Amino acid sequence: MQYRRLGKSGLQLSALSFGSWVTFDNQVDDGGAAEMMAMAYDAGVNFFDNAEVYAAGESERIMGRALKQLGWGRDTYCVSSKVYWGGEGPTQRGLSRKHVHDACHAALERLQVDYLDLYYCHRPDLQTPIEETVRAMHDLIAQGKVLYWGTSEWSADQITEAHGHARALNLTPPTMEQPQYNMFVRDKVERDYKRLYEGPGLGTTIWSPLASGILTGKYSAGIPDDSRMALEQYKFLRDGLESAEGQERVAKAQELAAIAAELECTLAQLAIAWCLTNERVSSVILGASRASQLTENLAALDVLEKLDAGILESIEGILDNKPEPPQEF
Ligand code: NDP
Repeated sequence: MQYRRLGKSGLQLSALSFGSWVTFDNQVDDGGAAEMMAMAYDAGVNFFDNAEVYAAGESERIMGRALKQLGWGRDTYCVSSKVYWGGEGPTQRGLSRKHVHDACHAALERLQVDYLDLYYCHRPDLQTPIEETVRAMHDLIAQGKVLYWGTSEWSADQITEAHGHARALNLTPPTMEQPQYNMFVRDKVERDYKRLYEGPGLGTTIWSPLASGILTGKYSAGIPDDSRMALEQYKFLRDGLESAEGQERVAKAQELAAIAAELECTLAQLAIAWCLTNERVSSVILGASRASQLTENLAALDVLEKLDAGILESIEGILDNKPEPPQEF
C-alpha cells in the first residue's frame, strides 16, 4: 500500500480506501462486509468511508458490527461519516448546528466508536450560514468526537468562506473535500480546487473512481442483473447510464479497454490507477459489491508505475475524442 498525507494535515491515509455506498445492506450483508473490510485492511487500507444517509443508517450499523467483530486497534484505522440527509423532518437534515450535533452522535452509536476520524458535510446547505456549520464542526472537534472535518461537493468559494470564518474566529478549518473524480468527471479536482491545494492545504478523498462501474467496461454488453444499475431504488444511475452521455461513456470505456489490454491489466485497474496519478488525490475510495471485485481493484496500485507520459497521453486522446468536425469541400 502507498500512504498519502491528507492535504497539509499530518494524517496519512492509504491511497486506496473502501466505502459502502449502495453496497452495504442493498447488496452486501454482515458477512460480506466483514470479509471485504478484512481483505482491504490486510492489503493496507486504513480508511473506511460511510454516511448517515447510506441505507438510512443501516450501512453504518453493518460497518460498526464488522469493526467490532474484526477487533482492530482503534489507532490503526480511520472511519468516516457524513451529515446532511438524516431524515425527513426539518431538524433531521442539512448543516444546522442541531443536525450536525445529532447526526454525529447517531453515527457514533451506529458505528460503535467513540470518535469519527473524518466527518464530512455531505453537500452544501444554502439555508444555513457557513459560519454556523464551522462553529458546530469545531465544537465536535473540541469535544474529541471528530478529528478532521471536511466537505463533499462544495464549491471552491464555499470552502474558501469556511476557511475565512475559521481564521477570523480561531476555529478549526476544513481539512478535506470528497468530490467525484474519475476519467469522466474532472473539473472540481483539476480546475476548481486548484487555488485550495497550496494555502489552505486541501486534501481530497475521491468517490466513484469507476463512474459507478462504467469504467470496468461491463456495460457495453448490457446491464447485468446483479449490478447496482439494476437496483430499483437506484434507477437514477440506470437513467444516467442509458442517457446519450452515459452511452458515450460506455463507448469510451470500450476504447480505453484497449490500453488496459496493452498494459496487461483490467480497465477497472487502469481507471483507479489513473486517479492516483493526480498527486492532489489523497485517497481513492473503492466500492465493491463482492470480494472478487475488491481483489481486482486493490491490485490497481501495481498498475500505477506503468502509467508513463505516453500512456497518459493516449488516455487523454480517447477522453477528448470529440466527434470530427464536418469535412469542408
Ligand atoms: P465506483 O465508481 O468504483 O463503483 C463501484 C461499483 O462498481 C461496485 O459497487 C460494483 O458495482 C462495480 N465494480 C467495482 N469494481 C468492479 C470490478 N472490478 N468489476 C466489475 N464491477 C465492478 O465507486 P462508488 O460509486 O461505489 O464510490 C466509492 C465510494 O465513494 C462509496 O462507497 C462511498 O463511500 C463514496 N461515495 C461518496 C459520495 C459522496 O457524495 N461523497 C457519492 C458516491 C460515493 P456492481 O457490482 O453493483 O455493478
